[in-house]
Amino acid sequence: MTEKTIPEKASLETSVSANPIPAKPQPRITPWAAPLWEACAQGKLSLPYCSQCEASFYYPRQWCPQCFNQDLSWLELSGRGKVYSFSVVHQSPLPSYQDDVPYVLAIIELEEGPRMMTNILNCDVDKVRVDMPVEVTFEERGDMTIPQFQPLK
Ligand SMILES: [Zn+2]
Repeated sequence: MTEKTIPEKASLETSVSANPIPAKPQPRITPWAAPLWEACAQGKLSLPYCSQCEASFYYPRQWCPQCFNQDLSWLELSGRGKVYSFSVVHQSPLPSYQDDVPYVLAIIELEEGPRMMTNILNCDVDKVRVDMPVEVTFEERGDMTIPQFQPLK
Protein backbone atom coordinates (compact mmCIF):
# COMPACT_ATOMS: atom_id res chain seq x y z
CA MET A 1 0.00 0.00 0.00
CA THR A 2 2.73 2.46 0.95
CA GLU A 3 4.79 1.52 -2.10
CA LYS A 4 1.82 2.33 -4.34
CA THR A 5 1.02 5.72 -2.74
CA ILE A 6 4.50 7.23 -2.94
CA PRO A 7 4.98 6.87 -6.71
CA GLU A 8 1.50 8.35 -7.33
CA LYS A 9 2.34 11.47 -5.29
CA ALA A 10 5.68 11.83 -7.03
CA SER A 11 3.96 11.55 -10.39
CA LEU A 12 1.40 14.21 -9.48
CA GLU A 13 4.07 16.68 -8.36
CA THR A 14 5.96 16.19 -11.59
CA SER A 15 2.90 16.85 -13.71
CA VAL A 16 1.93 20.00 -11.74
CA SER A 17 5.39 21.56 -11.91
CA ALA A 18 5.61 20.79 -15.64
CA ASN A 19 2.47 22.84 -16.39
CA PRO A 20 3.17 26.43 -17.40
CA ILE A 21 1.36 29.21 -15.54
CA PRO A 22 -1.76 30.06 -17.52
CA ALA A 23 -2.17 33.54 -18.94
CA LYS A 24 -4.11 36.10 -16.92
CA PRO A 25 -7.67 36.66 -18.06
CA GLN A 26 -8.32 39.57 -20.38
CA PRO A 27 -11.31 41.91 -20.28
CA ARG A 28 -14.13 41.22 -22.71
CA ILE A 29 -14.38 44.20 -25.04
CA THR A 30 -17.93 45.45 -25.51
CA PRO A 31 -18.72 48.03 -28.24
CA TRP A 32 -19.49 50.68 -25.59
CA ALA A 33 -16.16 50.06 -23.78
CA ALA A 34 -13.97 49.84 -26.89
CA PRO A 35 -12.83 53.51 -26.68
CA LEU A 36 -11.39 52.84 -23.19
CA TRP A 37 -9.22 50.01 -24.52
CA GLU A 38 -8.21 51.97 -27.61
CA ALA A 39 -7.09 54.87 -25.38
CA CYS A 40 -5.16 52.53 -23.07
CA ALA A 41 -3.30 51.14 -26.09
CA GLN A 42 -2.14 54.73 -26.70
CA GLY A 43 -1.10 55.23 -23.05
CA LYS A 44 -4.12 57.35 -22.16
CA LEU A 45 -7.01 56.93 -19.74
CA SER A 46 -10.42 57.89 -21.15
CA LEU A 47 -13.83 57.30 -19.65
CA PRO A 48 -17.40 57.98 -20.77
CA TYR A 49 -18.66 61.48 -19.98
CA CYS A 50 -22.26 62.58 -19.42
CA SER A 51 -22.85 66.22 -20.42
CA GLN A 52 -26.08 66.39 -18.38
CA CYS A 53 -24.34 65.35 -15.13
CA GLU A 54 -21.03 66.90 -16.20
CA ALA A 55 -19.28 63.80 -14.90
CA SER A 56 -17.33 60.77 -16.06
CA PHE A 57 -18.04 57.30 -14.83
CA TYR A 58 -16.49 53.86 -14.65
CA TYR A 59 -17.15 51.21 -15.90
CA PRO A 60 -18.21 52.15 -19.44
CA ARG A 61 -21.87 51.49 -20.20
CA GLN A 62 -24.42 52.51 -22.78
CA TRP A 63 -26.05 55.10 -20.49
CA CYS A 64 -25.12 57.38 -17.59
CA PRO A 65 -25.58 55.54 -14.27
CA GLN A 66 -26.92 58.76 -12.64
CA CYS A 67 -29.44 60.14 -15.17
CA PHE A 68 -29.67 57.38 -17.83
CA ASN A 69 -28.64 59.82 -20.56
CA GLN A 70 -27.51 57.84 -23.61
CA ASP A 71 -25.90 60.79 -25.40
CA LEU A 72 -22.39 60.23 -24.05
CA SER A 73 -18.97 61.39 -25.11
CA TRP A 74 -15.46 60.38 -24.03
CA LEU A 75 -13.16 62.40 -21.85
CA GLU A 76 -9.41 61.93 -21.47
CA LEU A 77 -8.59 61.99 -17.76
CA SER A 78 -5.45 63.05 -15.92
CA GLY A 79 -4.71 59.49 -14.80
CA ARG A 80 -4.11 60.79 -11.27
CA GLY A 81 -6.06 59.88 -8.17
CA LYS A 82 -5.77 58.46 -4.69
CA VAL A 83 -6.30 55.12 -3.02
CA TYR A 84 -9.90 54.98 -1.81
CA SER A 85 -9.68 51.43 -0.41
CA PHE A 86 -7.42 48.42 -0.83
CA SER A 87 -6.68 44.86 0.19
CA VAL A 88 -3.47 42.86 0.03
CA VAL A 89 -4.01 39.51 -1.67
CA HIS A 90 -1.80 36.77 -0.22
CA GLN A 91 -3.47 33.74 -1.80
CA SER A 92 -3.91 33.66 -5.54
CA PRO A 93 -7.54 33.36 -6.68
CA LEU A 94 -6.39 31.91 -10.01
CA PRO A 95 -3.24 29.97 -10.98
CA SER A 96 -2.37 32.78 -13.39
CA TYR A 97 -1.81 35.16 -10.44
CA GLN A 98 0.34 32.82 -8.31
CA ASP A 99 3.59 34.60 -9.17
CA ASP A 100 2.11 38.00 -8.20
CA VAL A 101 1.26 37.34 -4.54
CA PRO A 102 1.32 39.31 -2.39
CA TYR A 103 -0.29 42.01 -4.52
CA VAL A 104 -2.64 44.93 -3.94
CA LEU A 105 -6.23 45.05 -5.17
CA ALA A 106 -7.45 48.62 -4.80
CA ILE A 107 -10.23 51.03 -5.58
CA ILE A 108 -8.79 54.29 -6.92
CA GLU A 109 -10.73 57.54 -6.76
CA LEU A 110 -9.67 59.54 -9.79
CA GLU A 111 -9.22 63.32 -9.61
CA GLU A 112 -12.26 63.65 -11.88
CA GLY A 113 -14.41 61.57 -9.51
CA PRO A 114 -14.89 58.05 -10.91
CA ARG A 115 -13.60 55.09 -8.93
CA MET A 116 -11.81 52.19 -10.61
CA MET A 117 -10.90 48.75 -9.29
CA THR A 118 -7.28 48.03 -10.14
CA ASN A 119 -3.95 46.79 -8.89
CA ILE A 120 -1.21 48.96 -7.39
CA LEU A 121 2.04 48.14 -9.15
CA ASN A 122 5.66 49.22 -8.58
CA CYS A 123 5.11 49.57 -4.83
CA ASP A 124 5.85 47.49 -1.74
CA VAL A 125 2.47 46.14 -0.57
CA ASP A 126 3.25 47.30 2.98
CA LYS A 127 3.61 50.92 1.81
CA VAL A 128 0.10 51.26 0.32
CA ARG A 129 -2.21 53.53 2.34
CA VAL A 130 -5.70 55.02 1.97
CA ASP A 131 -5.45 58.48 0.33
CA MET A 132 -2.02 57.67 -1.13
CA PRO A 133 -1.57 59.65 -4.38
CA VAL A 134 -1.35 57.39 -7.43
CA GLU A 135 -1.11 57.66 -11.20
CA VAL A 136 -2.12 55.39 -14.01
CA THR A 137 0.40 53.06 -15.58
CA PHE A 138 -0.25 50.47 -18.24
CA GLU A 139 0.31 46.71 -18.18
CA GLU A 140 0.72 44.84 -21.46
CA ARG A 141 -1.30 41.66 -21.20
CA GLY A 142 -1.31 39.60 -24.37
CA ASP A 143 -2.59 41.91 -27.11
CA MET A 144 -4.29 44.23 -24.60
CA THR A 145 -3.13 47.19 -22.53
CA ILE A 146 -4.62 47.19 -19.03
CA PRO A 147 -4.86 50.35 -16.88
CA GLN A 148 -3.18 49.85 -13.51
CA PHE A 149 -1.94 52.34 -10.92
CA GLN A 150 1.34 53.09 -9.15
CA PRO A 151 2.48 55.65 -6.56
CA LEU A 152 2.52 59.19 -7.99
CA LYS A 153 6.06 60.13 -9.02
ZN1 LIG B 1 -25.81 61.75 -16.43
